[in-house]
Amino acid sequence: MKKRFYFGSNLKMYKNIKETTSYLKELVDLTGDISREDMTLFIIPSFPTLASASSCIDHSLCLLGAQNMHPAEQGQFTGEVSPLMLQEVGTDLVMIGHSERRHVFGETDPEENAKVLSALSHGFRALLCIGETAEEKAYGISREVLRTQLKIGLHNVNTKDLDRIWIAYEPVWSIGEQGTPASPDYAQEMHRAIRKCLTELFGDRAKDIPCLYGGSVNPQNTDSLIIQPDIDGLFVGRAAWEAQKFNSLIRQAIHTSETFNSGRV
Ligand code: PEP
Repeated sequence: MKKRFYFGSNLKMYKNIKETTSYLKELVDLTGDISREDMTLFIIPSFPTLASASSCIDHSLCLLGAQNMHPAEQGQFTGEVSPLMLQEVGTDLVMIGHSERRHVFGETDPEENAKVLSALSHGFRALLCIGETAEEKAYGISREVLRTQLKIGLHNVNTKDLDRIWIAYEPVWSIGEQGTPASPDYAQEMHRAIRKCLTELFGDRAKDIPCLYGGSVNPQNTDSLIIQPDIDGLFVGRAAWEAQKFNSLIRQAIHTSETFNSGRV
């Protein structure tokens, strides 16, 4: 069976409403001929742009995500955004536990778990981001860290909701301007450990959970990452923030993977 690829970008605290909508329209236009049977495309813009972003695209061509969410529907939580508010503006998925949420804003695994459960119960896809720090890697405990983040982050997830769980493996040391991309071998090793842990948690159904790699993805490392057997897609920051560049990267990845896999059989 042909592999489905996942490509997405988190726009962080960049792009105003006009920039976000024109980026989305251009990206959807440029990638329009790529079958959505083969690829899931998603973009995660800032909260204030979501309503405009949602109405400017066909969600069957590009899913729209939120960068965070409070688990409660309403309450005395100044500065937070609730699942009902995200439903109202047409959000498809919620990103949970991005490295900057964990390490800049101090979010914990139990908090990510509450968000995952709430996102699922409100009908969203939940994109749980996990990844070890440079220090944890140096101590040789990357696998343990990932297993902990998965086991707590996905605690009490009902198997009926598994088709709406996505994982992004983003080593903290690989993200952003100071980041160095993970080597493809290392990324594959960690993805294998993630898949093993998911299988322990959910059995055979875990094989259908998409696991994306993120962290300094660029046109130079795209090919060697996308051909790894346990990497189902790429979660891209800076290299995706111009529609033309993201379109080229997506096409490059699909082409490389198809060529690689046709050579294998
Ligand atoms: C990110 O912040 O999630 C990310 C993947 O960023 P970049 O690709 O710019 O390292």
